[in-house]
Amino acid sequence: MNEDNSNNDWNIHVKYWGTSGSISSPLKPSCVTQKVIDSICTLIKGGHLKDIDPSNLESSVAKMVHDHLPFSSKSTFGGNTSCVEINTDDCLIVIDCGTGIMNFGNSLELKWSAIQKDERKGLILFSHMHYDHLFGLPMCQSFYDANNSFDLYGSEKVAANLIEFFGQNSDMANSLYPPILSKIKAIKKITPLEENYPLVIGATTITHFALNHPGGANAYKIECKGKSYVYASDHEQLTETDTGLANFAKNADAIYMDGQYLLSEYLGHSGIGSGLPTKRIGWGHSPMEWCLLTAFAANAKSLHLGHRDPNRSDIETENILAYLKGHAVELSKSNQQNCPEILFPHEELDFFI
Ligand SMILES: [Zn+2]
Ligand SMILES: [Zn+2]
Repeated sequence: MNEDNSNNDWNIHVKYWGTSGSISSPLKPSCVTQKVIDSICTLIKGGHLKDIDPSNLESSVAKMVHDHLPFSSKSTFGGNTSCVEINTDDCLIVIDCGTGIMNFGNSLELKWSAIQKDERKGLILFSHMHYDHLFGLPMCQSFYDANNSFDLYGSEKVAANLIEFFGQNSDMANSLYPPILSKIKAIKKITPLEENYPLVIGATTITHFALNHPGGANAYKIECKGKSYVYASDHEQLTETDTGLANFAKNADAIYMDGQYLLSEYLGHSGIGSGLPTKRIGWGHSPMEWCLLTAFAANAKSLHLGHRDPNRSDIETENILAYLKGHAVELSKSNQQNCPEILFPHEELDFFI
């Protein structure tokens, strides 16, 4: 698991706050208990308990946990829905306002309490307005402080819908979401993105690309000083390799895509978790094996698979990661192409480009 690849030589810092798909999926109490049981069994079977130093109890146990337990036992990929923070030299960007945005806002409050009001600026990019990408917006503390300043961007449809949804006279906002735009004082502007017009802020350029998803969705590419990160979640590829998306993401340092289904689950040959097999064609997400083919076609250095199915356990996710890594190595050998690094980003993961 790539916990932190920082070497102080980066132009784009990506931090994941929500990578679960469709609906927030907190750990069940029985899952937490099972993690404790699995951890103790692993440590006893491995003979690691002898490493505990009673005079430095906490630090020696922390080292043992760090060194000897798999990620799925000692931690979790997280259950919050889509929210990614991106920092470049020029700007702070947050993509999507799923439930992960609450923790983003808490972290930002701490950071921004130490800087001048006129420096507290950011951009919000919406991929689309499905609930799992929208529901956290009223729960972000930073959006209520008039001293903060955010400009929000999305497709023409997203911008119009947001203004209507959160408008002064919106029945939806007043019954479902008491906060309306006049109270969310930090969001200063909602602007529809124009076709073929990138957003340029200093050395940072943001471009968008239309994805295939019910109701539509946008992918975003953030480029800064020769580095690039692509966020392309909620996309159902129409072909095994999506050449259009691969061209948009050409030579990206990292591309984030849906990791919701395996091909066998997408086709309805197997179920997810304890669920029955169900055909998922037309649901707006691509099988992971096809995401991998597109990442190869894009010559991306790193493939991040998020939007995990809410019924998927941490251990299943870890097992799928091992399968995909092996699959990628085989593809790389047979196609003689560079093999992208594959990871399933967990909440709080920092990735530096
Ligand atoms: Zn979604
Ligand atoms: Zn969606």
